Amino acid sequence: MDVKDKLYINGKWVSSTGTGHLEVIDSHSEEILATIPDGTPADVDAAVAAAYGAFPAWSALSNQERASWMSKIGEGLGARLQEIGELIAHEVGMPKKLAVGIQAGLPAQAFNDMARHLSEFTFEEEIGNSLVVREPIGVVGAITPWNYPLYQIALKVAPAMAVGCTVVLKPSEVAPLNAFVLAEVIDHVGLPAGVFNLVTGVGPVVGEALASHPDVDAVSFTGSTRAGKRVMQLGAETVKRVNLELGGKSPNVILEDADIEKAVGSGIFGCYLNSGQTCAALTRMIVPRSKLAQVEEIATATAAGFVPGDPMDAANVVGPLVSAAQQERVRDFIRSGIDEGAKLLIGGPEQPEDRPTGFYVKPTVFSDVTPEMRIFKEEIFGPVLVIVPVDSEEEAIAVANDSDYGLAGSVWAGTQEHAEAVARRLRTGQIDINGGAFNPDAPFGGYKQSGNGRERGRFGLEEFLETKSLQR
Ligand code: NAD
Repeated sequence: MDVKDKLYINGKWVSSTGTGHLEVIDSHSEEILATIPDGTPADVDAAVAAAYGAFPAWSALSNQERASWMSKIGEGLGARLQEIGELIAHEVGMPKKLAVGIQAGLPAQAFNDMARHLSEFTFEEEIGNSLVVREPIGVVGAITPWNYPLYQIALKVAPAMAVGCTVVLKPSEVAPLNAFVLAEVIDHVGLPAGVFNLVTGVGPVVGEALASHPDVDAVSFTGSTRAGKRVMQLGAETVKRVNLELGGKSPNVILEDADIEKAVGSGIFGCYLNSGQTCAALTRMIVPRSKLAQVEEIATATAAGFVPGDPMDAANVVGPLVSAAQQERVRDFIRSGIDEGAKLLIGGPEQPEDRPTGFYVKPTVFSDVTPEMRIFKEEIFGPVLVIVPVDSEEEAIAVANDSDYGLAGSVWAGTQEHAEAVARRLRTGQIDINGGAFNPDAPFGGYKQSGNGRERGRFGLEEFLETKSLQR
């Protein structure tokens, strides 16, 4: 077991002012992987003071100088990809083979891409007699979730530091070990003290202290809508910028003229990646009633191929869920789907027979789901797909938009034009057209209660900038 007993504040590894610790659990073995400090509001004060003190010198560096620091961090992460992928496979449960590329590779790339994003960004423009300049907003509090833990961190910390902000990071207490690797890399490259600070702990204590701290200029939060609302309320007291990247219940709209085989097969993967613990997971498959039997058949056969197993085994693409709490939550949703009369095609609430330990859930597909059901409305965050039959394209669009969320989505049709026309009518922040590929530079964020921010690429820089106009 690994004992992490220090926080990273002002360029040094220091003890917490408190004495508590939190356990990090291996999602497959259920054993204690490590312990971390259970940080306190006084730790947050020290970290914010360090970030505040470091801001003038760091923000005065040129973009090129900061970009070169970001590249050094990206290289440092790049040298530890295997280790980071395995660590997150233990913490979160995503199989190692996927985790190395997605959970470790994407964060390294996010740091490495900063030089390009900074060089392409328009920091100054003239409007009439005014020079409009974009400046770093100041001290940033970053609060992140456990599902893609290091990528969510990188999507905040890299652009914030790149534009000249200083940062206090509070990672998820459920999967925090990767954040310690980042702090080690940052320490190793010798980033100026105070530019990056790490305080671990629980949301209601460390997260709330950060969200309400008067010297924090912006909070960038990724997590549940419930916690995001609380962070926004706390931030309102000091009128800080609050960027929220929240939950989702994303539709996969499959139209009459689509390639059904391809759309359904791809849709299952889009739902089950990371055991369904993906904010952008395509969890609501909306299909023409005339194709329902075919869709059910393909979905059942495809889902049967997703057999959950040990994340360390290279043969597996689905692992356990992150925690006992998450496992129980998802099983409860599956029970509610059965109780509310949805048709269970495959899966179910029981622990998989061959997996007596580990937080495993059977990949599950429900059909004949209606918009009144909990499994249609709420974010389940597990490997549970709901299929909703509809009678027209208009109804498909209405059902897709019938959600408090609006994070991602997908549309499948016989032509790109047809799919795009429907995509334009969906109230959601990102939509894949006929299986369009992941683009790390494309803005990502939500409509409605999925949040108000946009991360990635040049849109990710905007979150950490203030605008000043100079009249001449
Ligand atoms: P969570 O809201 O429980 O926790 C997220 C972070 O917020 C953690 O660091 C937690 O400690 C902290 N937190 C909790 N309560 C807090 C409070 N009162 N004040 C301040 N901080 C608090 O979410 P989670 O379970 O870690 O992550 C899963 C959620 O994240 C899902 O809803 C998922 O959709 C969402 N998510 C969204 C995106 C996106 O980009 N939109 C990406 C990944 C995950």
